[in-house]
Amino acid sequence: MTSNSKNRQIQHLTSEVVYRTRLQAICNRINSASDLDEILIDLKDDITSLFAADRVTLYIVNAENRELVSRFKSANDIEEIHLPLSAKSIAGWCALKNRLVNVRNAYDIAELAAIDPALRFDERWDMQTGFTTRQVLAHPIVFKNYLLGVIQLMNRKAGSAFVEIDERSLKEVSDILGIALYTQKRLTKRYATGKFNLLLQNHRLAQNELEKAIIQARQKNVAIESILISDLKIAKKDVLASLSQFYDVETVEFTQNIPIPGELLAGLKVPFLRNHFWVPLREEDNRIVIAVDNPHDQQRIGEMRALFPGKKFKFCVALKQDILEIIKFFSQDEKQMADIEEILSVMRKESNEIEEAENEVREEDNAVVKLVNKIILDACARGASDIHIEPFPGKENTRVRIRIDGDCTLYQTIPFNYRSAVVSRIKIMSDLDITERRKPQDGKIKFEKFGGKNIELRVATLPTQGGMEDVVMRILDGNEPLPLDQMGFSESNCKNFLEAISNPYGIIFVCGPTGSGKTTTLHSALKHLNTTKTKIWTAEDPVEITQKGLRQVQVHPKIGLDFAAAMRSFLRADPDVIMVGEMRDRETTSIGIQASLTGHLVLSTLHTNSAPESITRLLDLGMDPFNFSDAILCILAQRLVRTLCKNCRQSYHLSLEEYTSLAREYGLDYFNDRVNIPFKDDLMLNKPVGCDDCNRNGYRGRMALHELLMGTDEIKLLIQNTAKIDEIRTRAIKDGMTTLKQDGIEKIFNGHLDLLQVRKVCIR
Ligand SMILES: [Zn+2]
Repeated sequence: MTSNSKNRQIQHLTSEVVYRTRLQAICNRINSASDLDEILIDLKDDITSLFAADRVTLYIVNAENRELVSRFKSANDIEEIHLPLSAKSIAGWCALKNRLVNVRNAYDIAELAAIDPALRFDERWDMQTGFTTRQVLAHPIVFKNYLLGVIQLMNRKAGSAFVEIDERSLKEVSDILGIALYTQKRLTKRYATGKFNLLLQNHRLAQNELEKAIIQARQKNVAIESILISDLKIAKKDVLASLSQFYDVETVEFTQNIPIPGELLAGLKVPFLRNHFWVPLREEDNRIVIAVDNPHDQQRIGEMRALFPGKKFKFCVALKQDILEIIKFFSQDEKQMADIEEILSVMRKESNEIEEAENEVREEDNAVVKLVNKIILDACARGASDIHIEPFPGKENTRVRIRIDGDCTLYQTIPFNYRSAVVSRIKIMSDLDITERRKPQDGKIKFEKFGGKNIELRVATLPTQGGMEDVVMRILDGNEPLPLDQMGFSESNCKNFLEAISNPYGIIFVCGPTGSGKTTTLHSALKHLNTTKTKIWTAEDPVEITQKGLRQVQVHPKIGLDFAAAMRSFLRADPDVIMVGEMRDRETTSIGIQASLTGHLVLSTLHTNSAPESITRLLDLGMDPFNFSDAILCILAQRLVRTLCKNCRQSYHLSLEEYTSLAREYGLDYFNDRVNIPFKDDLMLNKPVGCDDCNRNGYRGRMALHELLMGTDEIKLLIQNTAKIDEIRTRAIKDGMTTLKQDGIEKIFNGHLDLLQVRKVCIR
């Protein structure tokens, strides 16, 4: 062999190797393509360049219609070519006969006839696009005797015919495509469209819309779900329902109510979670609940296994966006997350050493100090009224719940081995005996002392089952009380209450259960009276609201300074107005009534349910009916009720049935006179919906319901006669008192409330 021919042979071999490598690369990419569109669009250039062809078209068989379909991207749309499985086109014939076709000139009738007399070239696409088809090489795509499609190359660049090596290579590509399309088809059934099957079934989404969305999502590099929601305006809940059905797991959305799972976040990095789109939510029945956008993703499940060795998981499917929001919420901002991460990782490190070294907590234990401070600050930021620290025996983690607008919600969990450290820290902050763990204790935290905001907390500890110790902290915010006209009084109640508190002497009671806002109302009244001309003494336990100008005394029963003692001292201290936190015993109450009869305005609260009931309760306590009837100005019963979220409440047409039932609850006799809203077809009320502002529960904030019983002459007479509670109530309503429920129903008609919430707080 000459060296020349050897060189040629080497050259030939080299280019053969390069060619084989490129062909192999294409086959590999087909194999690893994650969806059909990737094969259709991404590989186009590679294939045309390998075969030195102008165009490549991939047709997929649509067995139902016995046709070939090819999708291609035009300027701004995805278009489709449809060809019947017949001899009327080259690709159609190739599919029909399951045979390779190689023609030099598609317009050469004789050349086509030599292959099959029936074979035609379909000129429509050339005519539409201005392209002139010459050489065509088409190969059927078959897998296990299933015809899946046709791959067709057009116009060899040099103008020469496709050669044998092209035929062999195209067969190889077709074989790989066969496998890929076959698995793809199976997967498409299970995955790509499967995820959205429910939407397709319910006609929320059409197949072609979904296909467009898939391509758009790939182009914009966003999740298909977000295209469905933002561009196709499909409701998020419908998308989630479809995902839930497909993955057969529950769904989760971001809300501000999601408790922060402190012990699960320890050691996890925010950027990692963000990049991998999963986040642990809580531990439930020994399984870690995880929000993830694809609960079938084995790779990420592997990550979770590595990070939580030996744990079982329960997955919830969530949209990527929600997962990011949850991560953001858990981490507050970067810096804070760094804090909590640091706090918890220090805890985790130390926990091995400490394990259950119950009493040993050092005040300088930085992580615990930070954690307690963070709990208090977070609770304040979320507008909570109380913080509950609830440890459990054994290895169960400590629960921290906070009360917002009257309801408790889980705020966070703390690793179990830190339960006593946290409780001890709070006891140190509130000057309690940290060695006494069997008896309840109360104290107070002045948060300012610990480098925090100007917040005060009243602290109560209680021994609980299993040798544990619970802590409950009431947040006493130093906020200004609301002016009376912002307290949600109805017009007539506001006028009457102002009139009552404008008296120079007499006694006024605000009544209701704990947490009904009695103290707030009293302070609003005091704010109205608080001028330089007037001397106001208050005795409170605790002092929850402070006002400049008031002289406020914290009672201290342990040293003998109880409400009665404070009252007696006030009487020697030249008062105009006296406010007493609570009157629950005979002594305090009778001093109060005496004081009000000797020229002082006295305000206090009672733990009674209704205004008429308060009268009988006071008489039962042994009050002199004549003194009491002289003293009484008014009794205000109050409840706090959750208001509809102003952002999302929705008005709706009130049905006649609902109108009648509301009128009946109000009392038909009074409804027409006092409410005076006749039924009309366009009468609208509001109902809850739920949005981000209100944590999706439809209610946000609270307002007061009032029942104001005025000390009219008729009422005074009934008191003197120690009348029955029903008599007093009937009389009071006749005199114009609206009951708590009536006030609630009026506020329903004003659009602030719904009946559900009103019923929750008042029986009558
Ligand atoms: Zn809302």
